[in-house]
Amino acid sequence: MSDTHTPLTGQARIWHDRAQALTDDRRLDGRAWINGQRVAARDAQTFECRSPIDGRLLVPVARGQAADIDAAVQGARQAFNDRRWAGKAPAIRKRILLRFAELINQHKDELALLETLDMGKPIQHSLGVDVPAAARAIAWYAEAIDKVYDEVAPTADSALALIQREPMGVIGAIVPWNYPLIMAAWKLGPALATGNSVVLKPSEKSPLTALRLGELAQKAGLPDGVLQVVPGFGHEAGEALALHMDVDAIGFTGSTRVGRAMLGYAGQSNLKRVFNELGGKSAFIVFDDSDAIERAVDAVATGIFFNQGESCNAPSRLLLHRGIADDFVKAVVARAARWQPGDPLNPRTQMGALVDEGQLRTVLGYIDSAREQGAHCLTGGEQALADTGGFYVQPTVFDQVQPGMRIAQEEIFGPVLSVLRFDTEAEALALANGSSYGLQASVWSAHIDRAHRVARALRAGTVHVNQYDEDDITVPFGGYKQSGNGRDKSLHALDKYTELKTTWLRINARG
Ligand code: NAD
Repeated sequence: MSDTHTPLTGQARIWHDRAQALTDDRRLDGRAWINGQRVAARDAQTFECRSPIDGRLLVPVARGQAADIDAAVQGARQAFNDRRWAGKAPAIRKRILLRFAELINQHKDELALLETLDMGKPIQHSLGVDVPAAARAIAWYAEAIDKVYDEVAPTADSALALIQREPMGVIGAIVPWNYPLIMAAWKLGPALATGNSVVLKPSEKSPLTALRLGELAQKAGLPDGVLQVVPGFGHEAGEALALHMDVDAIGFTGSTRVGRAMLGYAGQSNLKRVFNELGGKSAFIVFDDSDAIERAVDAVATGIFFNQGESCNAPSRLLLHRGIADDFVKAVVARAARWQPGDPLNPRTQMGALVDEGQLRTVLGYIDSAREQGAHCLTGGEQALADTGGFYVQPTVFDQVQPGMRIAQEEIFGPVLSVLRFDTEAEALALANGSSYGLQASVWSAHIDRAHRVARALRAGTVHVNQYDEDDITVPFGGYKQSGNGRDKSLHALDKYTELKTTWLRINARG
């Protein structure tokens, strides 16, 4: 496609040609990655992987089912038991994972193109954000792992008590489609660095980069069986992995609905640990004493429209003090114009396609519900570029949103901002915390007491003060309430993939 039918030129032409070559030459491989090889599903079934950019068929992908998951888990268990990876010195694991990160960076163009074709985000973001962030996550855990020490407990002379972290064994990593590479890397970094084997189940909507990660890890020297990648549907491959009796923990990122099911699967099977990273409905609160209104406008527009609004931490509820609300909303509407969707393969495009038709229908359904419930659509609210065969929505802002409306409570996962107004700090806090989610929040105020007071009272895993864009692998990422129970990123993520072991030794005090 080319947006608005302009002829393709320059960089856009180059990316389109590359994309065309990939599909024409049938260079894409949708088979699973098990025990160091590409393999078809046991029953040879596939599903069609189509691009949301224009609906083109990319490649048939192996439709993993219980038998495929079982083969992957068995291989992963064998790799763990013979200690081909867990038994390596941390410095060796570090070297191999650093090489893995390097290879991700070296394959930047290929991985970015796959990511954009598979899930519709703009190529400039796949290149500038997704690939480097995934490589950095793997490299960061590689660098960390030979610097983490265990503990010795303060016991009496007659004993020695070692408190050690051991790898758990086989980890099931089930990830979503919105940042396929980054979400996979947030699991693989800490799980592999600590010596586990991992069975990765990418989303059926975005399996292609995960499959390439398997091959690149092998090239870096990761022993076969340590990283398995089985594509397939959630209710088939995903469920089989979460129910498997020989999986020790699930690192899950996805919707709260499926996170709930994860806890059930663990209860029905072997009580495997479940670490859920789930949805959000993050509040962005601006007080009338803010001295950074222009930055706040930019931050909220970028936060909600980046990645087509398909970000768990998108600030989808804008809470404005009534005194500044009218001007602020006008400025946000003006900024929204810069986020019109366009051709994702054009490097100038800022907003791409939603991941598939289902997601398009979901977002449009929320827009309809907002209109029916009486919210005012100030800009957007319509599908865009429909003649491309892809799935695009205009950046959309609703004013006069009431706390009980669906668009104020439910995660839309699209470029739709809900504006609510408040008069007092207490009211702002009640609105912000009046959500079943608690992933992130932001508070804008020039008064340090108020900023700290509100930040402390917000029930969210991350609170931003006078900004929204700081983010780094060094800090934990995760939610309160129904946004989850785990923490990705930072050294805290190592806890999820390790068991805590105590070893008591008797010491005879007399020689
Ligand atoms: P989803 O829950 O539909 O799917 C996530 C993964 O789970 C996919 O791989 C899917 O195939 C699998 N799955 C689906 N049903 C399953 C089942 N019954 N059993 C086992 N596996 C199953 O979520 P999604 O639509 O892919 O992703 C969007 C969601 O992810 C949003 O809610 C978003 O907020 C959340 N998310 C959270 C974070 C975070 O760190 N908190 C980050 C990114 C995305």
